[in-house]
Amino acid sequence: MTSHGVAPLPSEVFVRAPKVLLHDHLDGGLRPQTLLDLAAEVGYTDLPAGDPVALGAWFVEAASSGSLERYLETFAHTVALTQTASALHRVARECALDLAADGVVYVEVRFAPELHLTRGLTMREVIDAVLAGFTEGTMEAKAAGHWIRIGTLLTAMRTSSNAREVAEFVVEYRDRGVVGFDIAGAEAGYPPTRHLDAFHYLQRENSHFTIHAGEAFGLPSIWEAIQWCGADRLGHGVRIVDDIEVNPDGTATLGRLAAYVRDRRIPLEMCPSSNVQTGAAASIAEHPIGLLRGLGFRVTVNTDNRLMSGTSMSREFALLSEAFDYTLDDMQWFTVNAMKSAFIPFDERLEIINDRIKPGYAALRAELAD
Ligand SMILES: [Zn+2]
Repeated sequence: MTSHGVAPLPSEVFVRAPKVLLHDHLDGGLRPQTLLDLAAEVGYTDLPAGDPVALGAWFVEAASSGSLERYLETFAHTVALTQTASALHRVARECALDLAADGVVYVEVRFAPELHLTRGLTMREVIDAVLAGFTEGTMEAKAAGHWIRIGTLLTAMRTSSNAREVAEFVVEYRDRGVVGFDIAGAEAGYPPTRHLDAFHYLQRENSHFTIHAGEAFGLPSIWEAIQWCGADRLGHGVRIVDDIEVNPDGTATLGRLAAYVRDRRIPLEMCPSSNVQTGAAASIAEHPIGLLRGLGFRVTVNTDNRLMSGTSMSREFALLSEAFDYTLDDMQWFTVNAMKSAFIPFDERLEIINDRIKPGYAALRAELAD
């Protein structure tokens, strides 16, 4: 029984249930052992631990300081070790394999090409290496019985001035696996409106984008991302709760922005463990996802950075299920929400919902009923 008196789901169910992940960073999802191997290859001596378990624990601890800026510092290591085509290919391949083994059927993985240029690669070479790694990992996973499809998002950094160039690569690679664009990095002092030309370019090209907003920063950041930049989705968006008042009788009153986000069905890419680490939420049980799901927002569940949070999609769902008594029906609701919000074409989204997600949950439900 959980603390609320509901029989918990068997733990393997979280892995076996089909899942859809829209917000996952390539440089935040490396295997600790891979970091050690890559460090040995290039003579990198700055890693804070020499064995995979201790190294994995260090990342989680360093990322749990409660500050978004310190959280972002942990990326110095993962980025330093992914500066060659072979390292990028390996990391992308393993990303596909790890997600597929965890029961993810559709994922959009994002990375910033500009972070991988210090040893002479061009942006194009970075993108090609990652796409090739994804293709290889996807085929290998399928051969092992785990079907997965990967869409790639190219990220521009808020603090840089090359967002337009990254956006042009999104359009150039749109028929080769890249499905959208993202802006990431520290929010304070770097509003998304600095990159309006990139967003307008993508809109004119009928392309899709999401913006990290409303994580460390509040409502103005969400408002700019939607009403000035035209974001299709919000990365995190947790601070939207600042525009919602819960009344003493349990009903809620929505402000204009929160109402707009709900009315327009703007997807929120929520990352529970990551939000607790950066202080955007006090705990999983107090995470706004519970309130927002209850109010019918287009909420999705995501991992953000699996290495820094020591997490996986199945773990995020297990934590939510424990905190909010979520059932298989809730998991399916989040998963369908995410699939509807994906950047691949509508008919392809429907196909995954009808051929993978619905039958997967129906089979699990039948099994659990026995
Ligand atoms: Zn993120």
